Order: sequence, then structure tokens, then C-alpha cells
Amino acid sequence: MVEGLEEIFGRAWLTNSGPVHDRLEERLRHRLGVPHLSLLASGTAALQLGGQALGLRDEVVTTPFTFPATAQALAWMGITPVFVDVEPVHLTLDPERIEEVLTPRTTGILPVHVFGNVCRVDEIAAVARRHDLRVLYDAAHAFGVTACGAPVGNLGDASAFSFHATKVFHTLEGGALTYADESMGPVLRRLRNFGMEPGGDVELPGINAKLNEVQALVGLLVLDQVDQEIAHRRQLVACYRSLLAGLDGIRPLPEQPGVDHNGSYLPVIVDEAAGTDRSALLTHLASAGVHARPYFRQLCSHFPHFRDLPSAAPDRLPVAERAAARVACLPLHGAMSSRDVERVCSVINDVAG
Ligand SMILES: *Cc1c(COP(=O)(O)O)cnc(C)c1O
Repeated sequence: MVEGLEEIFGRAWLTNSGPVHDRLEERLRHRLGVPHLSLLASGTAALQLGGQALGLRDEVVTTPFTFPATAQALAWMGITPVFVDVEPVHLTLDPERIEEVLTPRTTGILPVHVFGNVCRVDEIAAVARRHDLRVLYDAAHAFGVTACGAPVGNLGDASAFSFHATKVFHTLEGGALTYADESMGPVLRRLRNFGMEPGGDVELPGINAKLNEVQALVGLLVLDQVDQEIAHRRQLVACYRSLLAGLDGIRPLPEQPGVDHNGSYLPVIVDEAAGTDRSALLTHLASAGVHARPYFRQLCSHFPHFRDLPSAAPDRLPVAERAAARVACLPLHGAMSSRDVERVCSVINDVAG
């Protein structure tokens, strides 16, 4: 780290697509198995610049069961999110409900690979094709995930990744957009730098969404460890799954056949059969020093500035509402051991059933 910093400051090239930035861009392109990738200041910026580059405007169909950034990015682009319920198994956008909400103003679909669970991408692609809509995936949870060997970053027209410090791969703060159409590259390079052409003239309504050299250096160092980190987390997930298998009412979301997951999250659904509810479970865990989180407790459709939208009505989003009241993410990070997982599960055993 120190050596890398000395190099950066010795060169006195601290940001604006420096050599470390470009090296990270290239290495991530290989790691994620995508033809095109642009580094950006955050996952939120990736959603916004991706949306702008794809021409999203007016109305975009999305899921309420996600981190706030997904819908907030749309609001900052002057786009109305149109919420569609999630499917009950993996809690991703329900493709069978999309066509009900389409209007002549709909320009795209913004599904989320929530908890790294891959969306029902073939059905989403079919709807998009039928109605000439762009598809921008929020892949913030899905670094390195593949479905039947295919990297998630190749799905849809573009995918937004977050490199926030809480994600499995990170640059402290940061993000990237991966995309299918090569001609988006020069557009994104301008959009992230105030819309300026290489010569300095402004041709597009850009903003500041650049990743600096020090963040890129952190990214290179974290990237060297990420495969080990993912492998370790996958072992912890397997351990959780086997220890929770016998429990009634506290059920991890099922694995997806053919999907190589990244061990980012371990979401469980706490339902009636547990003999307790989520809030009692979390309180009990906290009193034993175990910090699980009710993630996502607040749907995007609950936000004050969205809740009066027709698509935000709770009776139109029954599966998401149920999930928001019942899902918790159990502790999962690279510094944990399988002993830690055993301890968490034994505390859960005390309270459930
Ligand atoms: C973290 C996250 C984002 C936002 O990414 P930032 O890099 O923090 O801007 C967007 N969507 C989802 C689903 C996230 O978890």
C-alpha cells in the first residue's frame, strides 16, 4: 500500500483516469468476464450514468425490495420509479408482473440481483424485447456471480456494480458500469468528467463521477484477495446452510441451481413456524452479541416521496411487503470462522422452535 501511494504521489497524477485507474479497469474487465467496463465514483453513479447513456427517462420499472440507491438514482434523474412486486423464492423482480404496469412512457427496466440472487433474466429479456425497453441491472450485490458459467455483468444492456466498503470487492467508495455496446465507452468517459471531450469542450450533460488513483490502488490490493475472500465466505454459507437445515421457520433463501454465488449475504426468512418473529430473534441475537440486520426493512415504495405513487400501494406489492417484515441477514464476513457460524446458529436454536 505505502509503496503504491509513494508511486502515485511521486507521479503527482492523483485522479482523472490515471495509470492505476486504467490498470484496475482492465483487471476488473477480466475478473468480471465482460467486454466493456467503466470505473465510476459509486454504484449510485453507475446507475445514473448507465441510465443516462441508455436513454432512460420518464418511467422505469423496478423492484421495491432493494437498497435505497436503486430507486433514489431514478428520482435524481427525474424518472418515476414504477414498482413491481418480487417473486417469492429469491425476491427478485417478478417478470410476470412487468407487463401490467407498462405505459407509453416506460423506457426501461431496472431489476436488482438482490443478495446476489440472479434475476429471471430470460423472461425479463423477452419482455424488454417485446416492448423495446432497455434493461439496466443493479448488480451491486453480484460481484463475480455467474449463472450457468455466464458472468452477470453481461446481462441486459448494462449492469451497475458498487465498490462500497461494505461490498465483497471494494475501493472504499466506488463503482463500475459494464455494458454490451462498445460505443457507450466514450460516452461514459465524458459523462463521468463533466461531459467534457478530451479537448475540453463540453458536449454532454455530464457530472463528476470519477474514481481517483488512491481508490484504484485500494481496488488493486483488494482484488488480489477477493477470490480467497469469496471462497472463504462460500464455506461459511455452506456451514450456515447445514446448521440451519433442521430448523422450522428460519429458512435461508434457497440456492439457485447453476449459479456460482459470491457469499455476500446470508438472508433468512423468519416465518410463523419459528415460534418467534424477526424482531424477537434480532433482539435475542443482539443480547448474545450477534449483530444480524433486518435487511431490507423499509421498501423503496415506503419512502415519503414515493409512497403516494399508484405502484407503491402495499396491496400491489404483497410479496415484497411480507419479505420486508420477515427477512434478516445473518453475520457474514471474511474475518469469521466456522466456529463463529456455529455460535450464531446455536443462539438461533435457543430462540426458535
Ligand atoms: C450498495 C448498493 C448500491 C449503491 O452503491 P454505492 O456504491 O453505495 O453508491 C446500489 N444498489 C444496491 C442494491 C446496493 O446494495
